[in-house]
Amino acid sequence: MKLIRLPSEFDASYTPARGPALLLSCMDLRFMDEIIMFMDHDGLTNRYDHVTLAGSALGALGGDAKYGPPDKKTKTPATFPCLTGSFFAHLDWAYQLHHIKDVYVIEHRDCGAYGLMLQAEGKFPPAPPADPAADREADVHGRYAGRLQKLIVQWVAHKKAEDAAKYKDLDLGFHSFLMGLRGEVSVLPPVDDEPPSPAPTWGSCSPTATTPEIAVIPPVKRKVKA
Ligand SMILES: [Zn+2]
Repeated sequence: MKLIRLPSEFDASYTPARGPALLLSCMDLRFMDEIIMFMDHDGLTNRYDHVTLAGSALGALGGDAKYGPPDKKTKTPATFPCLTGSFFAHLDWAYQLHHIKDVYVIEHRDCGAYGLMLQAEGKFPPAPPADPAADREADVHGRYAGRLQKLIVQWVAHKKAEDAAKYKDLDLGFHSFLMGLRGEVSVLPPVDDEPPSPAPTWGSCSPTATTPEIAVIPPVKRKVKA
């Protein structure tokens, strides 16, 4: 039997979305229907662009150089800047195409991508502790939500400096949530744990003029019967 959740089960202690939004969630197949239900409840039916990246905020940050899995060649922790480039390209296009006003980030418990990208730092007990103060899983997700929020703020300032006319209406609210395995959603307070980088990077997804090689298939020679 599938449980239907009532709106009262969702946390509504935050400011509602002001207009179209961009939603960032993990790709995890277990949460897609609950995510849609949550966005519907929040009044955003057909009003959000949906970007899915493994690890949600952690994925958009391209992992963490402190904890990443060892690179096969260098043996140093690996990061994934292509994911950061993909996220910020989509954020840019969501603003240009749909004039988004808010960014929603939905993290979730038992995220396999956290384990892959952070190794032991991203692995947690199967059930959250009774004491919220001891909830390391929520704290770690809050850390990366906080870092992503800070990077988005820097990106907004960068785009406005780059082209003031084009980005004059760019003003993004930020909301982060943590979804449990039963689809319950709570507000995830972003944790501000590091100073803003003086030279932030938004990944590597710049347009290029490279022309893809076109494979030329030789014509098939057919035998003609005499
Ligand atoms: Zn996940």
